[in-house]
Amino acid sequence: FFIALEGGDGAGKSTQAEALAEWIRDKGHEVVLTREPGATPVGKRLRSILLDVSSAGLSHRAEALLYAADRAEHIDTVVRPALERGAVVISDRYIDSSVAYQGAGRDLSPTEIARINRWATDGLVPHLTVLLDVAPETARERFTEAPDRLESEPAEFHARVRAGFLTLAAADPGRYLVVDAGQEPDAVGTVVRHRLDQVLPL
Ligand code: C5P
Repeated sequence: FFIALEGGDGAGKSTQAEALAEWIRDKGHEVVLTREPGATPVGKRLRSILLDVSSAGLSHRAEALLYAADRAEHIDTVVRPALERGAVVISDRYIDSSVAYQGAGRDLSPTEIARINRWATDGLVPHLTVLLDVAPETARERFTEAPDRLESEPAEFHARVRAGFLTLAAADPGRYLVVDAGQEPDAVGTVVRHRLDQVLPL
Protein backbone atom coordinates (compact mmCIF):
# COMPACT_ATOMS: atom_id res chain seq x y z
CA PHE A 1 0.00 0.00 0.00
CA PHE A 2 1.53 3.27 -1.16
CA ILE A 3 0.75 6.59 0.54
CA ALA A 4 2.13 9.91 -0.68
CA LEU A 5 2.14 13.02 1.47
CA GLU A 6 2.09 16.26 -0.46
CA GLY A 7 1.93 19.95 0.31
CA GLY A 8 3.89 23.16 0.35
CA ASP A 9 6.93 23.92 2.45
CA GLY A 10 6.08 24.11 6.15
CA ALA A 11 2.77 22.23 5.79
CA GLY A 12 3.94 19.69 8.40
CA LYS A 13 4.50 16.72 6.08
CA SER A 14 7.41 15.20 7.94
CA THR A 15 5.67 15.47 11.33
CA GLN A 16 2.57 13.82 9.93
CA ALA A 17 4.57 11.18 8.06
CA GLU A 18 6.34 10.10 11.25
CA ALA A 19 3.15 9.96 13.30
CA LEU A 20 1.39 8.02 10.59
CA ALA A 21 4.25 5.53 10.25
CA GLU A 22 4.12 4.83 13.97
CA TRP A 23 0.35 4.36 13.92
CA ILE A 24 0.53 1.88 11.03
CA ARG A 25 3.48 0.02 12.62
CA ASP A 26 1.45 -0.34 15.79
CA LYS A 27 -1.11 -2.20 13.72
CA GLY A 28 1.58 -4.75 12.89
CA HIS A 29 2.60 -3.68 9.38
CA GLU A 30 6.08 -3.13 8.04
CA VAL A 31 6.30 0.57 7.18
CA VAL A 32 8.91 2.18 4.97
CA LEU A 33 9.01 5.92 5.59
CA THR A 34 10.85 7.66 2.83
CA ARG A 35 11.04 11.00 1.06
CA GLU A 36 11.82 12.94 -2.08
CA PRO A 37 14.18 14.33 -3.03
CA GLY A 38 17.12 12.54 -1.42
CA ALA A 39 16.21 9.08 -0.15
CA THR A 40 18.97 7.21 -2.01
CA PRO A 41 22.75 7.77 -2.24
CA VAL A 42 22.44 9.29 -5.72
CA GLY A 43 19.29 11.09 -4.59
CA LYS A 44 21.20 12.77 -1.76
CA ARG A 45 23.64 14.19 -4.30
CA LEU A 46 20.78 15.34 -6.51
CA ARG A 47 19.08 16.92 -3.50
CA SER A 48 22.14 18.97 -2.65
CA ILE A 49 22.40 20.17 -6.26
CA LEU A 50 18.70 21.05 -6.30
CA LEU A 51 18.57 22.90 -2.99
CA ASP A 52 21.93 24.64 -2.97
CA VAL A 53 21.74 28.39 -3.47
CA SER A 54 24.53 28.05 -6.03
CA SER A 55 21.98 26.37 -8.33
CA ALA A 56 19.99 29.61 -8.48
CA GLY A 57 20.21 29.86 -12.27
CA LEU A 58 19.39 26.20 -12.96
CA SER A 59 17.29 25.81 -16.10
CA HIS A 60 13.73 24.87 -15.30
CA ARG A 61 13.78 21.84 -17.58
CA ALA A 62 17.04 20.62 -16.04
CA GLU A 63 15.50 21.07 -12.59
CA ALA A 64 12.43 19.06 -13.60
CA LEU A 65 14.62 16.27 -14.98
CA LEU A 66 16.79 16.12 -11.86
CA TYR A 67 13.71 15.71 -9.67
CA ALA A 68 12.48 13.01 -12.05
CA ALA A 69 15.89 11.28 -11.90
CA ASP A 70 15.82 11.33 -8.10
CA ARG A 71 12.33 9.83 -8.25
CA ALA A 72 13.25 7.12 -10.77
CA GLU A 73 16.08 5.94 -8.53
CA HIS A 74 13.86 6.14 -5.45
CA ILE A 75 11.07 4.09 -6.99
CA ASP A 76 13.37 1.45 -8.48
CA THR A 77 15.56 0.88 -5.46
CA VAL A 78 13.37 1.71 -2.44
CA VAL A 79 9.65 1.97 -3.12
CA ARG A 80 8.91 -0.90 -5.51
CA PRO A 81 10.99 -3.46 -3.60
CA ALA A 82 9.18 -2.46 -0.38
CA LEU A 83 5.75 -2.68 -1.98
CA GLU A 84 6.61 -6.06 -3.48
CA ARG A 85 7.36 -7.51 -0.08
CA GLY A 86 4.06 -6.18 1.24
CA ALA A 87 5.26 -3.16 3.21
CA VAL A 88 3.26 0.04 3.54
CA VAL A 89 5.29 2.84 1.95
CA ILE A 90 4.84 6.44 3.07
CA SER A 91 6.62 8.92 0.85
CA ASP A 92 7.08 12.51 1.96
CA ARG A 93 6.45 14.01 -1.54
CA TYR A 94 5.96 12.27 -4.89
CA ILE A 95 5.06 13.16 -8.49
CA ASP A 96 2.43 15.73 -7.58
CA SER A 97 5.15 17.86 -5.95
CA SER A 98 6.84 18.09 -9.34
CA VAL A 99 3.59 18.92 -11.11
CA ALA A 100 2.94 21.66 -8.52
CA TYR A 101 6.47 23.09 -8.16
CA GLN A 102 8.09 22.58 -11.57
CA GLY A 103 4.76 22.82 -13.44
CA ALA A 104 2.41 25.27 -11.73
CA GLY A 105 5.20 27.08 -9.81
CA ARG A 106 7.50 27.53 -12.84
CA ASP A 107 6.52 28.07 -16.43
CA LEU A 108 6.51 24.43 -17.52
CA SER A 109 3.42 22.51 -18.62
CA PRO A 110 1.95 20.48 -15.73
CA THR A 111 0.85 17.86 -18.28
CA GLU A 112 4.40 17.45 -19.57
CA ILE A 113 5.80 17.24 -16.04
CA ALA A 114 3.28 14.52 -15.24
CA ARG A 115 4.28 12.72 -18.43
CA ILE A 116 8.04 12.59 -17.77
CA ASN A 117 7.32 11.43 -14.23
CA ARG A 118 5.00 8.67 -15.37
CA TRP A 119 7.88 7.44 -17.47
CA ALA A 120 10.41 7.89 -14.63
CA THR A 121 8.30 5.78 -12.28
CA ASP A 122 6.96 3.35 -14.86
CA GLY A 123 3.46 4.48 -13.97
CA LEU A 124 3.45 3.87 -10.22
CA VAL A 125 0.45 5.71 -8.69
CA PRO A 126 -0.14 5.98 -4.90
CA HIS A 127 -3.23 4.34 -3.44
CA LEU A 128 -3.76 7.47 -1.37
CA THR A 129 -2.32 10.95 -1.66
CA VAL A 130 -2.74 13.19 1.37
CA LEU A 131 -2.51 16.89 0.58
CA LEU A 132 -1.64 18.98 3.62
CA ASP A 133 -3.01 22.30 2.51
CA VAL A 134 -1.90 25.45 4.25
CA ALA A 135 -1.62 29.13 3.37
CA PRO A 136 2.01 29.94 2.49
CA GLU A 137 2.01 32.77 5.09
CA THR A 138 1.08 30.31 7.86
CA ALA A 139 3.66 27.81 6.62
CA ARG A 140 6.43 30.38 6.56
CA GLU A 141 5.98 31.03 10.29
CA ARG A 142 6.89 27.40 10.90
CA PHE A 143 10.35 27.51 9.34
CA THR A 144 12.89 26.83 12.03
CA GLU A 145 16.03 26.90 9.86
CA ALA A 146 17.21 29.31 7.20
CA PRO A 147 15.01 28.87 4.10
CA ASP A 148 16.53 26.72 1.32
CA ARG A 149 16.58 27.79 -2.32
CA LEU A 150 12.92 26.96 -2.94
CA GLU A 151 11.65 28.26 0.36
CA SER A 152 13.23 31.60 -0.56
CA GLU A 153 11.05 31.89 -3.68
CA PRO A 154 8.58 34.80 -3.65
CA ALA A 155 5.09 34.46 -2.17
CA GLU A 156 3.50 34.32 -5.66
CA PHE A 157 5.52 31.19 -6.45
CA HIS A 158 4.22 29.42 -3.33
CA ALA A 159 0.68 30.59 -4.07
CA ARG A 160 0.93 29.00 -7.57
CA VAL A 161 2.30 25.79 -6.03
CA ARG A 162 -0.59 25.65 -3.58
CA ALA A 163 -3.12 26.21 -6.37
CA GLY A 164 -1.37 23.52 -8.43
CA PHE A 165 -1.80 20.96 -5.65
CA LEU A 166 -5.46 21.88 -5.17
CA THR A 167 -6.11 21.48 -8.90
CA LEU A 168 -4.57 18.00 -8.84
CA ALA A 169 -6.66 17.04 -5.81
CA ALA A 170 -9.88 18.31 -7.38
CA ALA A 171 -9.20 16.27 -10.53
CA ASP A 172 -8.79 13.00 -8.62
CA PRO A 173 -10.90 13.04 -5.42
CA GLY A 174 -10.87 9.25 -5.16
CA ARG A 175 -7.11 9.16 -4.65
CA TYR A 176 -6.79 12.42 -2.71
CA LEU A 177 -7.48 13.46 0.83
CA VAL A 178 -7.17 17.21 1.32
CA VAL A 179 -6.59 18.23 4.93
CA ASP A 180 -6.52 21.74 6.36
CA ALA A 181 -2.96 21.76 7.68
CA GLY A 182 -3.44 25.08 9.46
CA GLN A 183 -4.97 23.03 12.30
CA GLU A 184 -3.05 21.54 15.20
CA PRO A 185 -0.94 18.49 14.19
CA ASP A 186 -3.11 16.15 16.28
CA ALA A 187 -6.26 17.30 14.50
CA VAL A 188 -4.59 16.79 11.11
CA GLY A 189 -3.48 13.31 12.16
CA THR A 190 -7.00 12.37 13.22
CA VAL A 191 -8.41 13.23 9.80
CA VAL A 192 -5.69 11.22 8.02
CA ARG A 193 -6.16 8.16 10.26
CA HIS A 194 -9.91 8.27 9.75
CA ARG A 195 -9.46 8.04 5.98
CA LEU A 196 -6.83 5.32 6.25
CA ASP A 197 -9.06 3.25 8.49
CA GLN A 198 -11.42 3.03 5.52
CA VAL A 199 -8.89 2.18 2.81
CA LEU A 200 -5.89 0.44 4.36
CA PRO A 201 -6.16 -3.33 3.96
CA LEU A 202 -5.73 -4.69 7.49
O1 C5P B 1 10.05 18.54 1.39
P1 C5P B 1 11.45 18.99 1.46
O2 C5P B 1 11.67 20.16 2.39
O3 C5P B 1 12.43 17.90 1.66
O4 C5P B 1 11.76 19.56 -0.01
C1 C5P B 1 12.96 20.20 -0.25
C2 C5P B 1 12.77 21.43 -1.11
O5 C5P B 1 12.57 21.06 -2.47
C3 C5P B 1 11.59 22.28 -0.70
O6 C5P B 1 12.01 23.61 -0.58
C4 C5P B 1 10.62 22.11 -1.84
O7 C5P B 1 9.95 23.30 -2.05
C5 C5P B 1 11.49 21.76 -3.02
N1 C5P B 1 10.86 20.89 -4.01
C6 C5P B 1 10.64 21.32 -5.30
N2 C5P B 1 10.09 20.47 -6.22
C7 C5P B 1 9.80 19.20 -5.90
C8 C5P B 1 10.02 18.75 -4.59
C9 C5P B 1 10.57 19.61 -3.67
O8 C5P B 1 10.90 22.48 -5.62
N3 C5P B 1 9.32 18.40 -6.83
